[in-house]
Amino acid sequence: MTLAAERSTAGSAQADTFDSSNPANGDLVGTHARRTPEQVRAAVSAAQQAAQWWAGLGFDGRAKRLKAWKGVLARRAPELADLVTLENGKPRADAVIEIVLTIDHLDWAMRNAPSVLGPQKVSSGMLAANFAATVEYPPLGVIGVIGPWNYPVFTPMGSIAYALAAGNAVVFKPSEYTPGVGQWLADSFAEVVPEHPVFTVVTGLGETGAALCTSGVNKLAFTGSSATGRKVMGACAQTLTPVLIECGGKDALIVADDADVTGAADAALWGAMSNAGQTCIGTERVYVTERNYDTFVQELTKQASGLRAGTSFGPITMPSQLDIIRRHVTDALDSGARAVVGGRDSVHERFVDPVVLVDVPDNASAITEETFGPTVTVTKVRDVDEAVEKANATGYGLAASVFSASRGMEIARRLRCGMASVNSVIAFATIPALPFGGIGESGFGRIHGPDGLKEFTTAKAIARKRFDLPVPLTSFRRPAVATRVLLAVVRGLHGRG
Ligand code: NAD
Repeated sequence: MTLAAERSTAGSAQADTFDSSNPANGDLVGTHARRTPEQVRAAVSAAQQAAQWWAGLGFDGRAKRLKAWKGVLARRAPELADLVTLENGKPRADAVIEIVLTIDHLDWAMRNAPSVLGPQKVSSGMLAANFAATVEYPPLGVIGVIGPWNYPVFTPMGSIAYALAAGNAVVFKPSEYTPGVGQWLADSFAEVVPEHPVFTVVTGLGETGAALCTSGVNKLAFTGSSATGRKVMGACAQTLTPVLIECGGKDALIVADDADVTGAADAALWGAMSNAGQTCIGTERVYVTERNYDTFVQELTKQASGLRAGTSFGPITMPSQLDIIRRHVTDALDSGARAVVGGRDSVHERFVDPVVLVDVPDNASAITEETFGPTVTVTKVRDVDEAVEKANATGYGLAASVFSASRGMEIARRLRCGMASVNSVIAFATIPALPFGGIGESGFGRIHGPDGLKEFTTAKAIARKRFDLPVPLTSFRRPAVATRVLLAVVRGLHGRG
């Protein structure tokens, strides 16, 4: 059996189960149900009932349950980390970091939901001075979440934890490569919320995800490739189901004249190679100004020489990605690039060793398409202006990094992306109060932070009359003088500009 077939499904198109396997060696990890559209609809229907109960608990009641879940996640983190390593392949220490970050986000969402989403008084303005104005953010109902495999806990939980804290029920379709992790999350939640199916999982392949889009959910939160994101939007358009789309990226790291070059090389290496480069916000392109280029390449090469696939990072989780990584490296080398670390032979059957490419033409696939492997391109630029121009020359707009002692914020603001790190990589994802998401081909909408909570609610406006105006304006009893008075007031207030 080919590697791809081995990791795709257990059998024929008719099979009602599929297997997940260990990407490091192909060993079977688990067998899971391939949920049908009827089963998905039934799960969403049950979640609709559960959503009412969950919303009715209020912020305090929900926080009590979410706190208990947080405790389970913290106590059983080693068990979950083992499962993440088995299904995704990443080193156990990286799985632990992923889980710890997730717990921190869950805690933030739970603690901040009341102040972000609870009733807030706003000014009623001059014309409606007799009103009290309130805005509040009630939950939407049932959120369908479709997740990827690369961070099988952290990424979907960016939607799940925030949607639950906002008072919604969740039906989650995990990636077919990491279904056991998804099931583990829902099972652990059911231990602390046994009464109703507030958070359930529907396992399956893409067709199960497609069924979730049209199953009656009140919003669909998708994280995955841009190609699938388009299909999800198309399916959700049929029922006007709102969508949150978190897709891929081609993130750049800029090294300015006044950068700490050693620190930049260390960060670029982590950004490019950790998780075997399978990070949506991973570093795929580096732009270095002339002054630092040679030193940076030397430093990166030196630091990269200590890295090995299989120990520093894990295997390629999805076998079909190996062909994409091979093509990007080969295309670049065929069009004049040089590999200063690794090369054509770095792509093996399950693992890919580090590859650092220099002199890559701007139109090579290694520069224009998401590679999602432990490879990185390094390009010499005249100055920061050229670096920004090249960094922005992509349809993606997820994240970026800047290394500069004095101009970090200024450069970060010029980058066309949803998130940026200064003198670091990926730092924004570790800060729960910061929104996470992209623009352009990278999607839209936000998880994390106050925006991530509001994403799973609807803004509800309430205007409450406190007393009658002496002269009614919005009534058929309005006297003719009211219009003259109104115009005089408006001229006095706004007519002088
Ligand atoms: P993918 O698009 O292949 O699959 C994502 C999910 O969509 C899976 O659960 C899959 O079963 C499901 N799916 C497939 N076809 C579907 C359909 N027609 N309708 C509904 N659902 C369907 O992506 P992947 O390979 O699992 O993940 C890798 C991609 O995810 C990369 O591009 C990466 O950059 C991106 N990603 C983005 C973020 C982010 O927050 N922006 C985070 C992690 C990963």
